[in-house]
Amino acid sequence: MATIFDKIIAREIPADVVFEDEHVLAFRDIHPQAPVHVLFIPKRAVATLNDLGSGDEIVVGRLAMAAAAYAKREGFAEDGYRVVMNCNRDGGQTVFHIHLHLLAGRPMAWPPG
Ligand code: IMP
Repeated sequence: MATIFDKIIAREIPADVVFEDEHVLAFRDIHPQAPVHVLFIPKRAVATLNDLGSGDEIVVGRLAMAAAAYAKREGFAEDGYRVVMNCNRDGGQTVFHIHLHLLAGRPMAWPPG
């Protein structure tokens, strides 16, 4: 089922895009939870982490590597950051197109809420 992220990929709705390549799109979260809050999504829609199959290892790898490259490029990689992927109800997932949250710019608490 199409989600709002498909519309962002198709440029049918606006987004503050910070990175794009053939496979990955990254844009600022509309409700930021930290001074830096960017979502990294695959251009090919996969609803949840549970829906990844054999051969999809690279899908999540690309998101993580794009996030790390962004952190280095923006200069906060050494200070640190957090990446989060929420899955289904108890994980707090609200958009069913997998995405990696990159949060930075403040110390992160543990355990997460
Ligand atoms: P989830 O709760 O892990 O599924 O995260 C979905 C995220 O998408 C939330 O942090 C929302 O604030 C964010 N979000 C929802 N709609 C938009 C949008 O149109 N632009 C940017 N971020 C969005």
